[in-house]
Amino acid sequence: MDNIAQRAKSLEKELIETRRFFHQHPETGWFTFFTTAKIIEKLKTYGYTLKMGREIMVPEARQGVGSKEALEEALLRAKELLSPEEYTLLDVMEDGLTGVIAELDTGREGPCIAFRFDIDAVDVTESKDLAHRPFKEGFRADIDGIAHTCGHDGHITIGLGLAKLISEHKEDFKGTFRFIFQTAEEGTRGAVAMEKAGILKGVDYLLGAHIGFQSKKSGGLICGVNNFLATSKFDVTFHGTSAHAAGAPEEGANALLAAAEAALLMHGITRHSQGITRINVGVLKAGEGRNVIAPNAFMACETRGVTTELNDFMKEKCMNILEGVSKIHSVGYSVKDVGGTSGGDSSPLSLMCMKKQPLPLRLSTRMTLSKHAILAHVKTLHTLCKRYKIKVDKVAI
Ligand SMILES: [Zn+2]
Repeated sequence: MDNIAQRAKSLEKELIETRRFFHQHPETGWFTFFTTAKIIEKLKTYGYTLKMGREIMVPEARQGVGSKEALEEALLRAKELLSPEEYTLLDVMEDGLTGVIAELDTGREGPCIAFRFDIDAVDVTESKDLAHRPFKEGFRADIDGIAHTCGHDGHITIGLGLAKLISEHKEDFKGTFRFIFQTAEEGTRGAVAMEKAGILKGVDYLLGAHIGFQSKKSGGLICGVNNFLATSKFDVTFHGTSAHAAGAPEEGANALLAAAEAALLMHGITRHSQGITRINVGVLKAGEGRNVIAPNAFMACETRGVTTELNDFMKEKCMNILEGVSKIHSVGYSVKDVGGTSGGDSSPLSLMCMKKQPLPLRLSTRMTLSKHAILAHVKTLHTLCKRYKIKVDKVAI
């Protein structure tokens, strides 16, 4: 193990370069074409068996997949960044089936240990301020509107570094290692489709981490999490009737007003005595013209709760509000679920084991054995363990 620690240290420069490389070419969830291709290339050189596309995902179960136009745009950009030989890797990722699973069998009997890493970036424009290190040192995102501001470039790097270390020291291990590089963690969209494809079958232990989440200072390592908020993400579309605002306003059905009222009422949902809740209407677009009764409106909403029950409470209230305002304004509406996850805590047993481990690490990392470990908070590790019959009597790290 000392050898491995030394080797890990010797990889520092390479890992910094890898992290900055992925930082420079961010892609959003589902459309992580270039990112997946580059991860695949590296994993191949480490000798892993790879699974991709429909092998690791049920396409119909995907949530919050972007528009066809966004997909085409992302594909075009990926092709510009990749060499013609590398294009071939894109074939299997048709329609945004990105992400990859790598497995290494040591050939010796032992447990199957899975690690999960998310690979997508966030819809935000990275700073061009000279005080911002990526800009100053020339590794800022090469595109506006997308940036690795959630640290998933770091997660990819940790995953690739770990995969390399394990393959180099294959003889020191037993059992099987499975690396899950998952797209669309942002918006909690990517996990369900992978889960449904059975990617956790045979897994005995499941580990994951998130950089810089709750640690108050650089160098902190937080083992576990409690009270992670459950959440639901949904889009609402109102369907009204247009009419001339001066000539015949009574003939219209105002979708803009319905949406505006719904947004205000949602933000006024009562607090709950059992714990924290959240609501946000983050996008509201409506209308067609100054003198037209707005026939359409769109809202992007999310709720959160410290427990699944509290999140359900918020969601239910939102649904009641939508029903109410639609009647008031005589408009139709439709709701599309585009993401979400239940709440949960780290397994107490797992936490105990983690705390007993000597961890000579100096990383600004929050490590958790809970739902964040895999599948973007979809289930607690406990739930996953039960479902997939993963042992929880001991933790292997
Ligand atoms: Zn993140």
